[in-house]
Amino acid sequence: MKQQIALLGSTGSIGRQTLDIIRLHPEQFEAVTLTSNNNWEMLANQAAEFLPDSVVIANKEHYRKLSEAIAHLPVKVYAGEDALCQIVANSNITTVVNALVGYAGLEPTLCAIEAGKKVALANKETLVVAGDLVMKAALDKQVPIVPIDSEHSAIFQCLAGEASAPTRLILTASGGPFLHMTADDIENASVEQALAHPHWTMGQKITIDSATMLNKGFEVIEARWLFGMQPEHIEVAIHPQCVVHSLVEFPDGALKAQLGTPDMRIPIQYALSFPQRLELPYPKFDITQAGNLTFSKPDTDRFPALRIAYESLLRGGNSCCVLNAANEAAVEAFLSRKITFGDIRRTLEHTLDKSIFIARPSLDDYRASNTEARRIAQQFIDSK
Ligand code: NDP
Ligand code: MG
Repeated sequence: MKQQIALLGSTGSIGRQTLDIIRLHPEQFEAVTLTSNNNWEMLANQAAEFLPDSVVIANKEHYRKLSEAIAHLPVKVYAGEDALCQIVANSNITTVVNALVGYAGLEPTLCAIEAGKKVALANKETLVVAGDLVMKAALDKQVPIVPIDSEHSAIFQCLAGEASAPTRLILTASGGPFLHMTADDIENASVEQALAHPHWTMGQKITIDSATMLNKGFEVIEARWLFGMQPEHIEVAIHPQCVVHSLVEFPDGALKAQLGTPDMRIPIQYALSFPQRLELPYPKFDITQAGNLTFSKPDTDRFPALRIAYESLLRGGNSCCVLNAANEAAVEAFLSRKITFGDIRRTLEHTLDKSIFIARPSLDDYRASNTEARRIAQQFIDSK
């Protein structure tokens, strides 16, 4: 049977690459719902090509324009963030690909789990904010959460077929655009410099997170929840060549790694086709052309956000939710040129310092923490 896919965030970087996979394997996958936030024109074009059952535009302001643009198509149109939650519960959907960015991804993930749908998860913020609740809900409902993030897909692939629990996870990191820059130069880096990632073309938010290396910190948190691993057993290795996508260590000391071209379509397709593998008609990786592969420890003096993420994970409670909210506010302010690159870190530290700690947050506590941390972060940003 075909997988009937709700693709949340179909107009984004992961969303568009997921459509490449659906396009390649029409006998396996069908897009049943496509969604965007503001980009109604691209969503209308996608609707014309894929003829999904429905589309959702999260920002209601664009509902009319989108409806008019596709009035001639047999496609239902819904609007609003609440509609995302409702749509994933539809009985004609088997799989939810969550390619939303930021906190907005959390509630649709929970709705998909509640409705018993398989979740292919790119939206790492889901697990950063409320990994404990999300994994518990998935366990209760026996819903698989399959990672799309390349490092977690690599670990997932290394774990397949193993009966023994791993002893260590090693997440590889490219180091981002500032790998070789001094602390002073990083402090005042421009938006253009921060957006120039050497290896990956991604959405703006994750590209800035890669420059601060908070993205790697988020991935440590993501791995903690996805694989039930304690933070002290999750390490990061700088690997600028981006060939080894991550490694797993087993009790006998054996290390397994997954290698390949840095192309997100490989982990996206695997998340959909698992446990099968399908053909991908792109040039295969030539290991003899890989050159030297290097691995080194990250420098948390120059990239303090990675250290802050570990500290938040160890503190637990609502700390990672607060960290995520502060970061979303800070990245937005940096991209709008309201604060410097170095101010991103200061916003994180200030917000974590001023927020109330909640040891065992409920979903409502996470919602309130997110709102409150954004307010604190915004006040700090406005004081700059
Ligand atoms: P993009 O910014 O490219 O795309 C985000 C998508 O979500 C767009 O479709 C956007 O719509 C939609 N969206 C944004 N905000 C909202 C909102 N408030 N409500 C509803 N929809 C919204 O992001 P990426 O594709 O780069 O990243 C998606 C997720 O995948 C992130 O969590 C990221 O960390 C993760 N990831 C991404 C990788 C990559 O290579 N890009 C690699 C690994 C993980 P619109 O187009 O209208 O703005
Ligand atoms: Mg990643």
